[in-house]
Amino acid sequence: MTAAAQVLLDVSPRSLARPLDYAVPSHLAGRVAVGTPVLVPLGSRIAVGYVVSLGPPSVDEGLRDLVEVLGEPLFDGVRWSSAQWIADEYACRPIEALRLFLPPGSTPKAVKEGDAWRLKRPTVSAATERIVELVLHDFQPPANAHRQRAVVAALQNGPLRVAELRAAIGDVDAAIRALQRHGVVVVTERRRWRSASAGLVREDRLHELTEAQQAAVAAIRDAAPGSVVLLDGVTGSGKTEVYMRAVDAVLREGKQAIVLVPEISLTPQTVGRFRARFGPRLAVLHSRLSDGERYDQWQMVASGEARLVIGARSALFAPVQDLGLIVIDEEHEPSYKQSSEPRYHARDVARRIAERHGAVLVLGSATPSIESLHAAEAGESTVVVLPERATGAAMPAVNVVDMTREFADGNRSMFSRALQSALDDVLGRRGKAVLFINRRGFASFVLCRECGFVPHCPSCSVSLTYHEDRGSLVCHHCGHSEALPSLCPRCRSPYLRRFGTGTQRVEAEISARWPDAPVIRMDADTTARKDGHESVLRRFEESPYGVLVGTQMIAKGLDYPEVELVGVVDADTGMHLPDFRATERTYQLLMQVSGRAGRGSRPGMVVVQTYWPDHPAIRAVVSGDRSELVARELEQRRELGYPPFGRLARVLVASPSRTTAESAAADIAADLTAVIPADWLLLGPTEPAIARLKGLFRRHIVLKAPPRAPLGRVIWTLLAERTPPDGTRIAVDVDPLEML
Ligand code: ADP
Ligand code: ZN
Ligand code: ZN
Repeated sequence: MTAAAQVLLDVSPRSLARPLDYAVPSHLAGRVAVGTPVLVPLGSRIAVGYVVSLGPPSVDEGLRDLVEVLGEPLFDGVRWSSAQWIADEYACRPIEALRLFLPPGSTPKAVKEGDAWRLKRPTVSAATERIVELVLHDFQPPANAHRQRAVVAALQNGPLRVAELRAAIGDVDAAIRALQRHGVVVVTERRRWRSASAGLVREDRLHELTEAQQAAVAAIRDAAPGSVVLLDGVTGSGKTEVYMRAVDAVLREGKQAIVLVPEISLTPQTVGRFRARFGPRLAVLHSRLSDGERYDQWQMVASGEARLVIGARSALFAPVQDLGLIVIDEEHEPSYKQSSEPRYHARDVARRIAERHGAVLVLGSATPSIESLHAAEAGESTVVVLPERATGAAMPAVNVVDMTREFADGNRSMFSRALQSALDDVLGRRGKAVLFINRRGFASFVLCRECGFVPHCPSCSVSLTYHEDRGSLVCHHCGHSEALPSLCPRCRSPYLRRFGTGTQRVEAEISARWPDAPVIRMDADTTARKDGHESVLRRFEESPYGVLVGTQMIAKGLDYPEVELVGVVDADTGMHLPDFRATERTYQLLMQVSGRAGRGSRPGMVVVQTYWPDHPAIRAVVSGDRSELVARELEQRRELGYPPFGRLARVLVASPSRTTAESAAADIAADLTAVIPADWLLLGPTEPAIARLKGLFRRHIVLKAPPRAPLGRVIWTLLAERTPPDGTRIAVDVDPLEML
């Protein structure tokens, strides 16, 4: 009897979603292992697949042979079991889950070269670079050898590229040669990995840790393998420094680490700090890299040259060999949930991966999610608190302005009197301010003051956003664009007015009031280019004074000590969303953006403009005490069976025909009702808040179940057997973060 390989095919039909058995012919036996890409016969054609396990065949006869082995293993059994868990948990095909772990690049194709088959992938760049490492640590170059001294100082934290030294110090070639002669440094040549230099370059300051930071580092060091540490530290409390020390300790043990940040392009400072400290041992993985760049970074990890990976949620799947630590910075951020299949949440997947690899998971935030706070209360994680700013700076004072009163007092401007005078003050002193426009869910739309008409997208049920520079109305879902009509299409009134505040309007208003002040705008328009965020932030950093105006993009991770004032132009927008997390999100956003103020030597001030000053989120921001808010949220969610006291899943049906959407959703609901346990609840089918999107009619079904219920598995079992009508799409979202 021959051995068999269980092969997961890289093909789309749901009926082929489970691994198939193939016989391993003797001439290939030595090269087949878990993780190897292979070529297999499938009907009359051949297909690419991956060996996921080896063992006795399930049937003795009729097994077809593997055709070819296409390369070295790309994953191990632990990763395959994590992929299976993801597929099961989030109701997706196992190959979709496994793809998360595979090297980046388009769907694999096998190509024939002479007699041999191989897998077509982006090619690895052939260029090389030189790395300098300090080997003689107590050597002091002569006092007049400035370059040599600078090189030795720069290398104290670890090796650096010659190019990095040159950028920081100038022409270093002679100095390096001299140090090499004395045996102080060694220079090695290695393959140059594309895009190994992302991030705003920063000088690395090794601070003496505060007591709270020391306790945090110790708690992470002493945490049991597979356990979770929640680092609950106010903005500016030095969480990043704690992460870096914890990473350093893990690297010293010869292990590797993964650091997740919400979105790499929004956090160039954080990446820059890691780069300054860890130099060429760092790989960066994120979505704005080209295929080739991402492939290089992936290979850099797989080869073991990179000891540390930093990136957005997908970096979680990097091919590290010996994982010691996973850090999730700003763990409350919704961007950790993937919005396309597989719709996994990086926090939950990280917990499984940490368990399987015996690594420690650190969740850090100034505003931890209700879920993480509840898990901590239940004893599922160790909590470490950093109650104060690391620099000793005070938390900023928060000043709430009731905008209804402003209006009653005759102030029609978008800036309250308090915000105006604060801006006068800061700009008069040539200081820096940040103005935040809360646009989550709503953008500036146009409304007829006479009849209330709001222009909507013809194919999505959302209002159109007005773009000042183009003078046009744009749909943010499908890109549809049309000219702003001069008269209301419904009642012919000339009073079509813009509502909601756009970054451009704020920019224009500042320029009108403070004509000399530099205004830097950060929004989807100004950051569309590949390095857009970095260059906008660099302009703000380099500007001697001025105002940074932005959307939620600026709420994350910015650490500019010169910022004295943060103004929240419209705190309320997110409060009205049909979402049980609306209060939590509003609070998190306001706290995060307030935290950008007063990080330096001058005290910070925050002005929050709202039409709802008594809202619990606003009250918690003002008092700096979230305990009341958290208790209230937990109580409400317990009553309603919302997370963390229950689990939700959403099945969304979208079709070009309204009746097809309705009938397909009704069928699925009926079938689900027949199979779900008695303590689950099925709601719907109903029309979601966005009833039409990109020309498709939408219906959704919501399932509510106890914590840890196998929602994904139950839904998958039902849907795997079903072929949706032509043009109709079914999307499953387990643990959804929004259901618009
Ligand atoms: P967080 O990530 O919690 O917002 P950061 O790590 O960005 O905080 O630290 C905020 C600022 O404090 C940074 O400029 C950092 O360099 C500085 N900092 C961190 N730790 C210390 C320390 N122990 N002593 C002095 N300054 C520190
Ligand atoms: Zn009208
Ligand atoms: Zn549209």
